[in-house]
Amino acid sequence: MRTTDRQTRENRTITVDFQNEATYFQLLDNGKAFLECVLAFVLSLGFQLQHKATCRGGGCLTRHSHYARVRLGGVTIWRIQCTTCKAVFTVLPHFVLRYRSMRPDVARDALLATHGGLSLELCAVISHISPMALYRLVCALGHQGLVTVLTRCGLPLPVYFLADEKHSHCLTDKVYLPTVVRGRVLWHLGYTENARAAAFTKSYQEFQRAACQQEPSYRVRGVLTDGFDSTTKSLRTLFPGARLGLCLRHALLKLPKKLAAIPSPVRTALRTRFHTLLYRARQRKSLRVFALGQRLRHFADYVTTMAGAANGERVRRWVQDKKAGWYTVLADPQMPVTSTVLDQAHNALERKLFAMKGFHHPGGSQQAFLTGLAHLYNLVPYQRRAQHAGQCGVEVEGGRVPTADWMLNLQILTSGGYQCAPAPPHH
Ligand SMILES: [Zn+2]
Repeated sequence: MRTTDRQTRENRTITVDFQNEATYFQLLDNGKAFLECVLAFVLSLGFQLQHKATCRGGGCLTRHSHYARVRLGGVTIWRIQCTTCKAVFTVLPHFVLRYRSMRPDVARDALLATHGGLSLELCAVISHISPMALYRLVCALGHQGLVTVLTRCGLPLPVYFLADEKHSHCLTDKVYLPTVVRGRVLWHLGYTENARAAAFTKSYQEFQRAACQQEPSYRVRGVLTDGFDSTTKSLRTLFPGARLGLCLRHALLKLPKKLAAIPSPVRTALRTRFHTLLYRARQRKSLRVFALGQRLRHFADYVTTMAGAANGERVRRWVQDKKAGWYTVLADPQMPVTSTVLDQAHNALERKLFAMKGFHHPGGSQQAFLTGLAHLYNLVPYQRRAQHAGQCGVEVEGGRVPTADWMLNLQILTSGGYQCAPAPPHH
């Protein structure tokens, strides 16, 4: 079984939109026009070609060699070469998927159904492909990192973000998916079999490394979590200068669990009071941190009065433990307040992972598969009736996508041969 597209050679494939197949076949016989068309397309994207590290990219491009894609009925694929650094780029027309005999229109339907939560097996049935072929396609998309694709869309690296782990299962083993979300976009979706801080650190570090590669001066200002110990520890290790906030909505959900053996109306009343407290603290801009400390003390006293000393003491200790994280949220107006969008992302993934149990074998390419799913999450437009209808997450967050076609965007943005860096400073 081939383990997808791992290559020692650098992948310099580029997907080019030739508008229609007839145009492509006409251009095959005209080297000059072919090159001009490719270069015009690259220019229209605002991208550059990924030359070798030593190359300034100022050299000429020339048509280099071609090969025939047997599995696609002998479609001729051209390669082009930089005359300076000798880097070779494989030019895939829009109607061909890298290494795959599947046509993009077939892949489009299958991926959309996967994204919608249909099982791989059923997606395969409606598209007349094998479930394994679909699995490998998602993995292949996932070999290009999220940070690379998102920065290609012009999104700035997230200075404030949400971080949390999704708990899932790989067969009977518990696994965790460390996640970084900013608004409607997933910046990291990792995979670890261990809930310890060291394992989470390793996963979040992959995001950090990718981000710093894009922008060496990248600094995180604030992260919102649900307060899980391993998460907090790993983020503190990786982003020592960042403020760590705790989700206020999560605090509200946790409170009733701190109140034992009391009638339900009392519990509801206390929760309402706590809700009002947090809400008011958010309204009072400059005073809100000071006001919150005082109000939290009063609230614990109130719990003692209403629900007894044991409950009062439990709430007091809980507040003591969490309040720094709540202060952080209230002190910095740019900090995200709740992790709702992160929960939505996890819920969306949950349906797919559940539908995919058969592929959760320990030897699978979990990381690539998850990254592939995350690309779909970021780039598939919302449906017609939804809020932000017709836009994908990247666009909602202010990013640009290369074309109006999400499948083509996916092909272009996960290509290895593009880079989005502005012109090198040597010019
Ligand atoms: Zn070059």
